[in-house]
Parts: sequence; C-alpha cells; structure tokens
Amino acid sequence: MNILLLDRDGTIIENIPYLNDENKVKIVEECIYPLRVLNDKGWKLSIVSNQSGIGRKLISMKEVHAVNKRVRDLLLENEIFIDYIYFCPHAPWQSCRCRKPNTRLIEKLLKRYKSIFNEPIDRVVMVGDSQSDIDAAKNAKIEGILLNKMKWLEIKEHLLNYKGS
Ligand SMILES: [Mg+2]
Ligand SMILES: [Zn+2]
Repeated sequence: MNILLLDRDGTIIENIPYLNDENKVKIVEECIYPLRVLNDKGWKLSIVSNQSGIGRKLISMKEVHAVNKRVRDLLLENEIFIDYIYFCPHAPWQSCRCRKPNTRLIEKLLKRYKSIFNEPIDRVVMVGDSQSDIDAAKNAKIEGILLNKMKWLEIKEHLLNYKGS
C-alpha cells in the first residue's frame, strides 16, 4: 500500500490564512489531474494540516470541519477520494505533539491505515508547501516533497516511476 499525505493550505487548496468560510475553498488547479492519476493507480490519499486558527481563537472547530468537508467534496467531484483528514487545532505556544513539524498526526494516521487495510505499507510520502511539512516528514522518517521545488506533474511522475526499495 502506498500512502500520500497532503498538506491542505497552499498545497491542494489556495492558501487563505485562517480560512473559516467553506465557500472560499478553491482547489489548486494543478493538483487535480496528478492526484486523480495517483488515486487511480492505487495511492491512498489523506490530509495532514495545521489549523492553529482554532487555538488562536480566530476560527472554530465547526468552521474547520465545514471547510474540510468542502475540500473533500470538491475533490470527489474530480474523482479524487480522500481517506482521512487529520488536523492539529493548537496554537504554536501550546507546544502540542501534533502540530507539524511534530509527527503525532502522521503516526496516528499510519496506525489507522494499518488497522483498517490488511496490507503492509510500502511507501509513505508527504507533499507540502512549507518547510514544516518537510521537517514533519523527516521527523516521521518518511519521504517529504516540497512543492515549488517540484511541480505537481513532476511529483506524479516521481511517485509512479520510483518503485521503492
Ligand atoms: Mg501549507
Ligand atoms: Zn496540535
């Protein structure tokens, strides 16, 4: 089983800081085709996101859930299926263990995949637009890909061509 972990803001939706309105969700155009192909080829997709706006009391849990649902629905319209959306609701000063670059969310997610799907995990890759995404990947000992360094189409090629160890 291959698993692709996606950052949300700035990676699969246009980045709007502390987004609290699901009507403002805009999927990043360039990720649609690559994600659909990867999903078709059996890659499992999940989102791992920092939502410190909750801890900062700028947005509510309910708003984040509504935005996440919208993201899921819009991707589904493009035949892209997101298995799980995990997010950290804490502000940086709360020093939690789930805010990227910490690894709690990634660990929980992989554990969940293992318990739900009766298959070994072959490859896990995290794609994000921030250094904290890459650092989280490094800390969780999985591969990290920084968007901007690699474009979405290249990421797709990279993930499909490399067969793993
Ligand atoms: Mg981001
Ligand atoms: Zn947290």
